[in-house]
Amino acid sequence: MQRATKIVATLGPASSTPERLAELVAAGVDVVRLNFSHGTAADHRQRVEVLRAVAHRAGRTVGVMADLQGPKIRIGKFSAGPVTLKAGQHFILDATCTLGDATRVGLDYPELVEDVAAGDVLLLDDGRTVFDVERIEGSEIHCRNRHDGELSNNKGINKQGGGLSAPALTPKDMADILTAAALNVDFVAVSFPKSGADMRQARQLLHEAGSDALVIAKIERVEAVANLEDILHATDGVMVARGDLAVEVGDAAVPALQKRIIREAREHNRFVITATQMMESMIASPVPTRAEVSDVANAVLDGTDAVMLSAETASGAYPVAAVEAMVRVCVEAEKSHEIKLDTHFLDLTFGRIDQSIAMAALFTAVHLKVKAIAALTESGSTTLWMSRLNSGVPIYALTPRVRTRYRVSIFRDVYPLLTEYIALDRDELLWQAEETLIAAGVVEAGDLIAMTIGEPIGNAGGTNTLKLVKVGEHRQPKS
Ligand code: PGA
Ligand code: MN
Repeated sequence: MQRATKIVATLGPASSTPERLAELVAAGVDVVRLNFSHGTAADHRQRVEVLRAVAHRAGRTVGVMADLQGPKIRIGKFSAGPVTLKAGQHFILDATCTLGDATRVGLDYPELVEDVAAGDVLLLDDGRTVFDVERIEGSEIHCRNRHDGELSNNKGINKQGGGLSAPALTPKDMADILTAAALNVDFVAVSFPKSGADMRQARQLLHEAGSDALVIAKIERVEAVANLEDILHATDGVMVARGDLAVEVGDAAVPALQKRIIREAREHNRFVITATQMMESMIASPVPTRAEVSDVANAVLDGTDAVMLSAETASGAYPVAAVEAMVRVCVEAEKSHEIKLDTHFLDLTFGRIDQSIAMAALFTAVHLKVKAIAALTESGSTTLWMSRLNSGVPIYALTPRVRTRYRVSIFRDVYPLLTEYIALDRDELLWQAEETLIAAGVVEAGDLIAMTIGEPIGNAGGTNTLKLVKVGEHRQPKS
């Protein structure tokens, strides 16, 4: 059975060799993520080159996402390795400290001192260490540590409840945008955006660097949740970035937020990725926990476009098994998903002809129980609109544009197929489309399919025709 939900796998030391990348692609990875928080530009370039070579050899369309580090605030280093912290002990965060010890450590963001006040709670190392801020003295943030534990070099810091002033795009991110553009990536994820303006700035910088990559807003700040609507208008996709989000809003608030973000993204015609710790135990174990299986399945039932693996594939011991486990869980969850066409679109009004045709195609496809929808598309937009509603009908994006083929690789229910579009004659073009679907093994003679086309042929944004075709029926040999 075809899998409708897409899989994003983060690349790292555990997934860089040609052999391993080939295994990951064969296992079903749809998009790879380059994590710009780790590694050099040369590392990312090398991985992209190998990935593209193995995907090409396997005949698979695998998209590439660059994930910018963003203003993740971190502590500095300790002079003699990790330090032990006792519950109730006093500890100082001090931007002027170069090498830390058992009583204090440096900060890579001196402005943090202006963003916090007595009574605030700082969470370090994804919340494993909790500091209550007692007072500020000059450049020093004096804290009280809550639990026994350990603190090591360069751990991240979040402020509970949000309110950090750091801008979303750092000088490093701006340099990394140039690298991402040079690597011709398909997607760029922006970390810690607070508003739509942050996403517009990222898109502008990409544009100036010559890239038309789709932008993804990682929802991981309290402010991003508050400004979700504004962000959705400015972005192409969102990521439910549960790691940092849980620290900012409290872990218990995340499951309901995940459902809301997925629903609102789809309603705004945006795609959505659910990320972080989905198969976390598989970093060290060949099988997932029952809780992880349920988590992935529930994200599928929530309507996510894609589920993401982070350290599981970047640095874990079982990267291929993690992808295989995800595939297994997605396929089974999709089977159990009760398909009922969302009817809210009946109340929407469309100003655009292409969007109206997309909705008409979907409606007709469901009612006539067609085998497949074939969208002859230049930009891929028709397939995005159709895939925002849960119809259970597979949508094939037949496109001559390589870029579009990679873009749609992340949309749920959408499958990219490359066509040459060599025919200029309309009927011949439709036959070609049928042949492509037959060759891909997704339809056979006699199947009913719905096709969307733009006439005249080859105009982006020109979808204006819906045609219902019985495969093979009107086929006539060309004289
Ligand atoms: P990260 O983003 O892995 O880059 O931190 C995802 C998250 O915060 O969940
Ligand atoms: Mn994050």
